[in-house]
Amino acid sequence: MENKAKMDNLIDWLKDAHAMEMQAVQLLEQREKRLTSYPALKGRVGEHLEQSRRQAERIEGVLESLGTNPSTLKAGVARAGAFVGGLTQAAASDEVVKGVLHDYAFENFEIASYRSLVAAAEDVGATEVKRVCEENLGEEQAMAGWLLEHVPEVTQAFLHAGAGR
Ligand code: MG
Ligand code: FE
Repeated sequence: MENKAKMDNLIDWLKDAHAMEMQAVQLLEQREKRLTSYPALKGRVGEHLEQSRRQAERIEGVLESLGTNPSTLKAGVARAGAFVGGLTQAAASDEVVKGVLHDYAFENFEIASYRSLVAAAEDVGATEVKRVCEENLGEEQAMAGWLLEHVPEVTQAFLHAGAGR
């Protein structure tokens, strides 16, 4: 592939990542609001919400430096909507458990996306893009690890809470 075509791909994928982060922010805002009985989870979700806002800003920064007009990013949010649309399911009594499982899957999607972006940025020698994507990647890995580690605890806390059916 010619370098120009590679750069066009990189820019497209960065726009996808930006849309992904906008969706992450929406998702985590809803989660955080609804989590009342699980303080540790609520705290970690709130922390990652702030990280996700900064991740989106970092992506905006590199896109602007590559000559992309920020207003064109808004259109991208709609195209990512289909992917995350199914993630905010209607409230079920066990929504806290389903939410953690779902969010773990979402974090892993983000991890794979940033690994792909790091490889693409490396290929075209876009060092700042690579650095930013590695920074975001590290935060997704930390969040995925935390969620997986806390799956048993959240599950048992739910079972012991007596919310019942
Ligand atoms: Mg993210
Ligand atoms: Fe994330």
